Amino acid sequence: MIRRAALLAFAIAAPGCSSDGAPTGVDDPVVDEESIAEDDLALTPATGPLRFSRACRSGERVTIAAVGDVMPHEPLQRQAYARGWWTVFGGMTKWLDDAHVTYGNLESPTARGIAYTGALVADPGPVFDDWVYTDTPFNVHRGILGALRSAAFDILGAANNHALDRFSLGVDRTLDAMDAAGIAHVGAVRATRRGSFSTRVVRNGFDLRFVACTFSTNGIFDGADQVTHCYLERSRLLSTVRSLRADPDVDAVIVVPHWGAEYSDTPRLKEIDLAHEILEAGATAIIGSHPHVLQPWEKYVTRDGRETFIAYSLGNFVSRHYYLTLARRTSILLYLGLTRGSDGKTFVNGVRYMPIYTRYSGGNWNVTAIDEMGDEVGGYPDARRLATTMFGEWNVRYPGQPLDTTPECR
Ligand SMILES: [Zn+2]
Repeated sequence: MIRRAALLAFAIAAPGCSSDGAPTGVDDPVVDEESIAEDDLALTPATGPLRFSRACRSGERVTIAAVGDVMPHEPLQRQAYARGWWTVFGGMTKWLDDAHVTYGNLESPTARGIAYTGALVADPGPVFDDWVYTDTPFNVHRGILGALRSAAFDILGAANNHALDRFSLGVDRTLDAMDAAGIAHVGAVRATRRGSFSTRVVRNGFDLRFVACTFSTNGIFDGADQVTHCYLERSRLLSTVRSLRADPDVDAVIVVPHWGAEYSDTPRLKEIDLAHEILEAGATAIIGSHPHVLQPWEKYVTRDGRETFIAYSLGNFVSRHYYLTLARRTSILLYLGLTRGSDGKTFVNGVRYMPIYTRYSGGNWNVTAIDEMGDEVGGYPDARRLATTMFGEWNVRYPGQPLDTTPECR
């Protein structure tokens, strides 16, 4: 649990609450990025290196890069509309691009011409007008999609608690925009039911299937059944995984649930139980998001002896929460390595990660690989310590190292 942070650098003018717990109706606060509000985390240390017993087996390989939530908070939208999304996350491109597949969760519709009330209006273009393009409930101009594509993202999660922030038509328009930008999506379908609840991504000769779900749609009724719900539709989720697992053409099933308690660095039994059930049903790995902070990872051995992997929460890829705590700004870029053995079966060979941090520099918010900051490394020791306490030093991929999920085999 995180103690509601003290306001160190903000002046509050008016009460009111958004989903971030932030006061609304205030001017953009003066930001002192060195004034980081306190977290109160349990912070369970890693028990040691995370290794997989078949790491060094020969076979064909594929590597998946994954990050947590892309949160288009108001300051980030304003920055991006003025100076481009590249200034927000472009610096991460080279680290995202050297995996075969890159995944992240986009925590917002990209629905043109829909106000937050649901009214259909003329689209204002890429401006934060607080009417069509807004902070919670979110909507971000579809220009973000081309930028994410340019930053090497191949597939985005569309099942999250903000999926219906522009209602049913907003889902349709979001999926249209993603298709137009050439970026795959998972977890939502159009009201006309075109599309599937799993998404096929073929890379490097591997047929990978992604399956997404969300714990909630923030109380907005999913009347057209467009979003996969983790708990309400548990049996549909599990049967989807089972049938993909039974398909001989499918090499691996990656499930990306949007779940967990916000601002808690510990998964609950609810997530742990569902994770294990999903893996028993045949998934290879689970990559979670929503808590806005990191949660531990786990190697889980299924009853049929498969070594599978869970990252309970990858935190935020990029965000600018009103309360600037260290844990909300610190995250990881995860690399998951898979091998297809001579028997045609695919297994996890290893995982690596890069600690990342959303910093304020030169008037811009941007996400950066901490170990790449050179002389600035010393400036963010707390963020790095948070990540390496949770995941250990052994699994870190340093800038300058080739992407290799099994360096122990060299
Ligand atoms: Zn969420």
